[in-house]
Amino acid sequence: MSKVYFSSARAIKWRYEDSMPGKLDALLKKVGLMGYFSPDEWVAVKTHFGSEGAHRTVRPIFLRKVVDALKRIGAKPFVTDTVRIRGLDYLEVANQNGINHLSVGAPVVLADGLYGKDSIMVKAGEILGEIAVASLIHDVPAMVVCSHVKGHINAGYAGALKNLAMGGVSSAHRSCGWKCGRGAMHTIGEGELRWDADKCGLCYQCRDICPLDAITFRDDQLSWDGNICWRCGRCERVCQSDALSMPGDDRRFMSSLAEAAKAVIGTFEADKIIYINFLAEIQPECDCMPMADVPVTQDIGILISQDLVAVEQASIDMLLKAVPLPSSLAEEKKIVAGEDILLKLHNKPYIIQVEEAQRLGLGSREYELIEI
Ligand code: SF4
Ligand code: SF4
Repeated sequence: MSKVYFSSARAIKWRYEDSMPGKLDALLKKVGLMGYFSPDEWVAVKTHFGSEGAHRTVRPIFLRKVVDALKRIGAKPFVTDTVRIRGLDYLEVANQNGINHLSVGAPVVLADGLYGKDSIMVKAGEILGEIAVASLIHDVPAMVVCSHVKGHINAGYAGALKNLAMGGVSSAHRSCGWKCGRGAMHTIGEGELRWDADKCGLCYQCRDICPLDAITFRDDQLSWDGNICWRCGRCERVCQSDALSMPGDDRRFMSSLAEAAKAVIGTFEADKIIYINFLAEIQPECDCMPMADVPVTQDIGILISQDLVAVEQASIDMLLKAVPLPSSLAEEKKIVAGEDILLKLHNKPYIIQVEEAQRLGLGSREYELIEI
């Protein structure tokens, strides 16, 4: 049975060891990084840089603790993410969210280059066929996956699996474009964006959020450039009038996340990845959005495991036991303690991600929780 180490977010005593950074230090010691990483080995610390406005990411202090722990064993860490918006803008977002060399103590680099096209095709599975894994993640021998656990409008739940699947893959591949990248998970067929003029309130949020300026309006008519569009789905997600849609299917989406995660993991030797899930500032939405709503549950703590599926299942189990917070989306949706908060927030069959990951051999939903 896989071990999952946990430390609570509660800080009872007035001492560093009781703080979350202090507890992360202790968890990293308990896990024993020497068992995974070697002196002089390059180690990617994979996180999500967030968005301008989405400030509830994994805080720089935690990345710093991971970097320092890796340096203590002589490894050579760097902090990375794949391009979500234009690369230069994304580095600036990272900087604004406090993720830079000075704060985290290691280089902060884009895993798929400034243009987000530096990726290598890797065999994925029945749904995706092949997928474009960011070249840096493909090539680096070891990785610590630092994930901010939260809800997600499409995935229902977003943790390590999504951080690997969406975050380890490029938006587009140099030769085969979006069809080999994240868009292959988000949509099917040609991924054509459909606009319902009757429902559209001309709020222009879709245009403003598009990282590629693929949406324009003229004479109150939406125009979409399918040739440059990444099929990232942001425009569809922010439309609160249901006026935009891309073809998709929840089961296929969840299953393809597991497939893509498998493709990313497959580029590493066994025992060269560990997963750290941060159950803090658990907001209802993805860190890609240009805002972060208030948390739907209280901070819970930090989980570490070498088993992707186990750390995800343990995170979900903890979220399902958490009490929904007042003045949050959970209260707005009348979610009460004991109900499946993840399901009720977004009505998505999120558990398929984890079921599929187990079926694909990425780990076990059975775990032993060890609290320190
Ligand atoms: S899916 Fe929407 S937001 Fe994303 S690139 Fe295409 S048009 Fe822009
Ligand atoms: S976000 Fe939706 S309602 Fe607003 S302009 Fe775009 S399509 Fe219309």
